[in-house]
Amino acid sequence: MIHRKLLKAIRVKPGSKVDLDDYDPGLHILPELEEFDKDELKSMASEKLRENVVELAEAQELLYASDVYSVLIVLQAMDAAGKDGTIKHVMSGVNPQGCQVFAFKKPSAEELDHNFLWRYMRALPERGRIGIFNRSYYEDVLVVKVHPEYLGKLPKGKVDESFWQKRYDDINRFERHLVRNGTIILKFFLNVSKGEQKRRFLERLENPEKHWKFSEADLAERDWWKDYRKAFEDCFSATSTKWAPWHIIPADHKWAARALVSGVIAKEVKDLDLEPPPLTPERKKALAQAKKKLMSE
Ligand code: ATP
Ligand code: MG
Repeated sequence: MIHRKLLKAIRVKPGSKVDLDDYDPGLHILPELEEFDKDELKSMASEKLRENVVELAEAQELLYASDVYSVLIVLQAMDAAGKDGTIKHVMSGVNPQGCQVFAFKKPSAEELDHNFLWRYMRALPERGRIGIFNRSYYEDVLVVKVHPEYLGKLPKGKVDESFWQKRYDDINRFERHLVRNGTIILKFFLNVSKGEQKRRFLERLENPEKHWKFSEADLAERDWWKDYRKAFEDCFSATSTKWAPWHIIPADHKWAARALVSGVIAKEVKDLDLEPPPLTPERKKALAQAKKKLMSE
């Protein structure tokens, strides 16, 4: 029951105006959770993650066997919010053959020579698969909105509010096209607080095993925190749709984020109610003959 309420609380209602102040990055997500202490919540979340991983593994096998739907998982976040760890844990039970992860960095010159959706279209999951976008076309209305100098070559015209509204429209229609063709789209924002990001950056600077994870560029982007927040709010208000909803995931505790992301994905794939492809009478006959042949060896 709490679980269902939680999944509802983190989903952005289509058409609503998002204020990130309404979404706690910590554990204050539902009044019902207040009666538990942190350790209790942590063990409940770990248990739930284990369950979800098993459920997702089963659901994914059916997804693969029925070969009709694909699932696209979009992950967006500020740096050090835990995208990589979430992918690793949430997908830990899934057959690697049925799953593909793409991480999108700054676009290349070739990519900038195409429309902004081009590089993402080429990476979409085929039927039967789960595709994960570690950053996505949403970068083109997030980092690019914060730093419009990244826009690259475009026909002349002002980059004003209507420019970004048109990009949201393009994204909404692109996603609707995908959904109509059998893709389930689930979008997650890992909502880490500025204080927790500082703690994680400091850990990367202090712990030699984590030095490699630190990047000065991440620290530079932190200076733009407010602008990113506004860009995220505008983006979620404009692009959380019935067919491709956003989920704002409290990410200050990695265990909470992992339980919630896996919960949403497992539920959505299970709700497809997939069944293995039905056996035709000819196929049944062929299987019986194959068995007979093997038995007569
Ligand atoms: P990690 O740091 O864990 O490896 P990451 O996703 O932060 O993962 P980086 O290589 O550090 O990967 O950063 C990629 C950078 O590319 C981000 O700063 C992101 O905002 C930027 N980027 C992604 N897509 C675009 C885009 N379309 N235009 C401009 N910058 C982009
Ligand atoms: Mg990075």
